Amino acid sequence: MNTKLYYISILPLIFLLSSCSDDVTRSQPVEYTSSVEKLVQHSEEFIPTVYSYDNGIHIAVGFGIANSIMVEGEGGNIIIDAADSVVEAEKIYKFFKNINSNPIKAVIYTHNHGDHTFGAAYYDSISEEKPQIIAHETTAFYIERIMGILNPIISARSSRMFGTFLPEEQLINVGIGPFLGVSQSTPGYMKPDITFSDELKLTIAGIDIELYHAVGETNDQLFVWLPQQKALMPGDNLYKTFPNLYTIRGTTHRDVKGWVDSLDHMRSFNPEYLFPSHTKPIEGEEVMKTLTLYRDAIQYVHDQTIRLMNQGLYPDQIIEMIELPSEIADSPFLNEFYGTIRWSVKSIFNGYLGWFNGNISDLDPLSRKEEASRLALMVGGVENIYLQLEAAVTAKDMQWALQLSDHLIALNHKVNDVNKLRSIAAEYIGQRSPNPNKRNYLLSSALELEPGFELENIIKSDAYLLKQLSMDNFFNILSVTLNPEKVETGIYRACFAFDSGLKKTITLRNKIAEISSASTDCDLNIETNDSLFKETLAGIHNPISKVASGEINTNGKSAEFLMFLSKFRN
Ligand SMILES: [Zn+2]
Repeated sequence: MNTKLYYISILPLIFLLSSCSDDVTRSQPVEYTSSVEKLVQHSEEFIPTVYSYDNGIHIAVGFGIANSIMVEGEGGNIIIDAADSVVEAEKIYKFFKNINSNPIKAVIYTHNHGDHTFGAAYYDSISEEKPQIIAHETTAFYIERIMGILNPIISARSSRMFGTFLPEEQLINVGIGPFLGVSQSTPGYMKPDITFSDELKLTIAGIDIELYHAVGETNDQLFVWLPQQKALMPGDNLYKTFPNLYTIRGTTHRDVKGWVDSLDHMRSFNPEYLFPSHTKPIEGEEVMKTLTLYRDAIQYVHDQTIRLMNQGLYPDQIIEMIELPSEIADSPFLNEFYGTIRWSVKSIFNGYLGWFNGNISDLDPLSRKEEASRLALMVGGVENIYLQLEAAVTAKDMQWALQLSDHLIALNHKVNDVNKLRSIAAEYIGQRSPNPNKRNYLLSSALELEPGFELENIIKSDAYLLKQLSMDNFFNILSVTLNPEKVETGIYRACFAFDSGLKKTITLRNKIAEISSASTDCDLNIETNDSLFKETLAGIHNPISKVASGEINTNGKSAEFLMFLSKFRN
């Protein structure tokens, strides 16, 4: 197991330990609690390093949030996971190229997340021949959804969870990497060329590669098995923290039982090397031990949640009852530095039974405002809730302070003062949380409560990126941005004919926008170029000037078309 290590010091780790203060004010430096110090130590996992193995596998850890892996072949190499930006892909490839400068023949995405896909365009930019992009058949769908209809909210919540806008000294790490770098450049996502459903075996540059669909952290996840090297690349189905069975930035339900099955599938190969897409590689007998430990921890949380669900308990009760068994609780692979058991329990409950917890008072509860106003009445007036909020902050009873502030905001009472106290509470809790997702989310939320602060969208677009996305994606976005207040009664049909031959129609009816390919009875006929239309919708061009220049041909109905477009705005 001859492991050569190349240590690179482009990101020296700074462990900040500041002085303690009892004052409860914003931006006061705090001494890390011992559990937060553990998170600080966890940063050792992300010292930028290329780990090189004699079997021709090289893994870059710590350059950005996700790892990139290069496998050497004959006359060409492959990359598994492309890092989270072209900036990081370039940094990583400098080291890979020094090891072996043969062309990159293929890039495999282990799943759709930006930290595995957004660096791909770098490999296209340096190659004479475009590398093949290989992924699961649903990967493009999930990427388009994140870039499309869910983009505003996923961007906002991701930037909070990863602490994108926090001052550098507040960001310890993001649990599975040092920081999220997707906003460093426009996403260099390239759509996949080769996809598969269950499994795919192929040989590229003499490297035998086996890919297996393996649901878990995402529905499109795959793992890579290299039989010649006995090496496993599990994607994000294993890394050195408790798994993110739910992510607080928001996600569709993660199939927790499927995740266990995927880990069992990996175990069936008896791998000798494990190259995860986050945190350091593992080799020797540790591989099987870790795979087994990880699947056991997930199964425990899954099975115990269901056992307690079946007893009629509600999620908020179950979260207080489940802890990992003592046999495995102390494993460094199960520290809650990314996922947590409590959030997982709620997600498992929701995955099987949906949002209704079964409690009749939660079926159709009073509105937030109504509940707050009755509470105010009960305590002798809303000002008394405010005094309780001040007292909670003084007593450092900060979760209670956050909950009290919810009532005051619902009643629109002293909102500026309430927000200042809410911000203090959020920062206090955030600073003391050893879970970086919670920590960063609360610290970022405290920052957002500062007057004048506005979150920027972390995903920028350019013509290259827009080409990778389907036209369907843009029409889906139009559908969910329709403002019903701007739609008149009746049926109105806008028909689009694109240079490529593609036809799309939007029918406005009953305050919805039906998207179809029909093109009869059109009130509006638009002819234009595919790329130009996408770029206009993405805000790269002003529609007024493109209509005026005729590049968007409205057949004499310019004002009507612009009026039509204006309905698709919040
Ligand atoms: Zn990842």
